[in-house]
Amino acid sequence: MARYIGSVCKQCRREGEKLFLKGARCYSDKCSIERRPYPPGDHGQRRHKISDYGIQLREKQKLKRLYGLGEKPMRNLFDHATSMKGVAGENMLSLLERRLDNVVYRIGFAASRKEARQLVKHYHFLVNGRRSNVPSMKLSKSDVVELRTKSKSVSKLSGALEANSIREVPAWLDVDRNNFKATLMDLPKREDITSQIEERLIIELYSK
Ligand code: SF4
Repeated sequence: MARYIGSVCKQCRREGEKLFLKGARCYSDKCSIERRPYPPGDHGQRRHKISDYGIQLREKQKLKRLYGLGEKPMRNLFDHATSMKGVAGENMLSLLERRLDNVVYRIGFAASRKEARQLVKHYHFLVNGRRSNVPSMKLSKSDVVELRTKSKSVSKLSGALEANSIREVPAWLDVDRNNFKATLMDLPKREDITSQIEERLIIELYSK
């Protein structure tokens, strides 16, 4: 997958809203979008007329950036979501929320999804007692994610739950802070996902 190595704050500014890609800085007054609330680039402050296609494209880019996905995984996700029962857009968001890296972020073990992805890749977590290093792994109801015993001695990890407690843990996750573990009590539903995403636009774009 092509890796974006530019400024992630520019991605927020391009989408016109906070995507929380940088951890603690996003909650401080150093947040770039607070200081420069317009798109990056020389013409960022000019008014542009945006087509219907442009609106759909921006919504898709926003979702990709929020979860740190490339184009191919997004397309695969769309195929998966449309093959499932129910509303395709809601299925897509639910599948994204159930990713292992997102769950690690939601619990509070990582300051951002990018960091969560890296921690998962470095085998810091067990899923149902087994090691996993696949960030895209889809979790199911009753699955248990826990920090490996060895990793509890890493102060950054053992202190992460406390450090990230500023973020609210979604109701579908039950966190046992004393034992550094969390259980999926339910599958995430549309109303559990608070990000400002109009998934209908993304489905329309991919359905063309
Ligand atoms: Fe986005 Fe965070 Fe940068 Fe603010 S600090 S622009 S929320 S990545």
